[in-house]
Amino acid sequence: MRVTIFGTGYVGLVTGTCLAEVGHDVVCVDIDTAKVEGLNNGVIPIYEPGLEPMVKANHAAGRLHFTTDAASAIEHGDVVFIAVGTPPDEDGSADLKYVLAVARTIGQHLQRAAVVVNKSTVPVGTADKVRAAIAGELQNRRTTLVFDVVSNPEFLKEGDAVNDCMRPDRIVIGTDSPAALEKLKRLYAPFNRNHERIVSMDVRSAELTKYAANAMLATKISFMNEIANIAEQVGADIEAVRQGIGSDPRIGWHFIYPGAGYGGSCFPKDVQALAWTAQQSGCNPRLLDAVEAVNAAQKGHLFELMTRHYGDVRGKTVAVWGLAFKPNTDDMRAASSRTLLAQLWEAGARVQAYDPEATHEAQRIFGERDDLTLCGSAGEALRGADALVVVTEWKQFRSPDFGKLAATLADKVVFDGRNLYEPAEVENAGLAYYGIGRGRSV
Ligand code: NAD
Repeated sequence: MRVTIFGTGYVGLVTGTCLAEVGHDVVCVDIDTAKVEGLNNGVIPIYEPGLEPMVKANHAAGRLHFTTDAASAIEHGDVVFIAVGTPPDEDGSADLKYVLAVARTIGQHLQRAAVVVNKSTVPVGTADKVRAAIAGELQNRRTTLVFDVVSNPEFLKEGDAVNDCMRPDRIVIGTDSPAALEKLKRLYAPFNRNHERIVSMDVRSAELTKYAANAMLATKISFMNEIANIAEQVGADIEAVRQGIGSDPRIGWHFIYPGAGYGGSCFPKDVQALAWTAQQSGCNPRLLDAVEAVNAAQKGHLFELMTRHYGDVRGKTVAVWGLAFKPNTDDMRAASSRTLLAQLWEAGARVQAYDPEATHEAQRIFGERDDLTLCGSAGEALRGADALVVVTEWKQFRSPDFGKLAATLADKVVFDGRNLYEPAEVENAGLAYYGIGRGRSV
């Protein structure tokens, strides 16, 4: 099938590549000329495990094309995806300017019947706005064309995006058009082989499903962080509590890890956008507001632990392991590391940071500063440091040599923002240990 995808970010590039991988003929279009030029020359703008060889192979095979030419891209597609960003607006609502700009572009260039598929995360009612924007442009051109607007929210996880896209656990399709549903079923047939993964519904329900999924996951995290903070105060160990509750299948093991707060481009903005939608529709989103407030506070928790230990961190050199908002990505949008670094700098500390993939991103965000050294290895970040803070749970941070850590860190203290370590093991090596919700550390 001939597919066009607007946006070559985490969602658009991964989706386009996976659709090409199963044999579709895909054109990806972006307004970022440098990105498109890079992609045409084999430069992959993001880090996602497994993505680079797949992009290169499909590009070489002539099934995956990159362009800035929206008109020819629209002419190409039987199905046209919108996969551009929906960043938060000042009031927390989703800013639809990129989505609606693409809709207008589609309306300006559409030459034949097509199915327009919205993959961006958008508030309920956006499909109507996209439909109106396309229709408005068609009217300006005095053209009548049949087109459908479908909601097909994306559930891939950064860091495992290719895998999620190739083996989705569900494919939500929101439409009231049987023909559009049929077309998307054919498009996704290669991903829907052994059991039924397609969940079809009306457009509004599909739009809300995406927010409900992210809000539920964010709620689990904030819940665990709240329990962790209680554990810390009452002398209980959240890791034991986690084992104790996760074994109940009604609760389950996923997303019950306490930590330094959730970040990334999705949970923070989607919880806020859903709360905004709730308010607009006359609902009082008490739970969503609390999820957001707990998370905002949790992002400051590592710094609180440091202040508890030191009193004042002024003049300290702090090794930070992990800058990305989670492992296996270079994405630092709304990452907890950014809150910590800002607090450390504000308090007069220096940072020596290492992240396996996010160094370039950190360089772009922070630029050159006297109080930041971006290091080439975890060991380099420790050299001359007083303390270690672990912010992102990359696998390579899981089993450090604690004896060496004790010999290297001047103040012999570890702040473990992801509960990677056993407190006793760290303490036996002669280090002070602070985790999240580990009552022993109080
Ligand atoms: P992103 O910021 O990584 O990429 C967006 C891309 O769209 C950029 O390359 C940008 O240049 C391009 N773009 C903007 N305007 C354009 C236009 N008019 N024409 C063509 N391209 C244009 O965004 P993302 O992380 O891929 O997210 C896209 C959407 O998917 C968002 O709504 C997000 O909430 C949702 N989503 C993201 C994830 C994720 O893990 N990142 C997961 C599920 C859903």
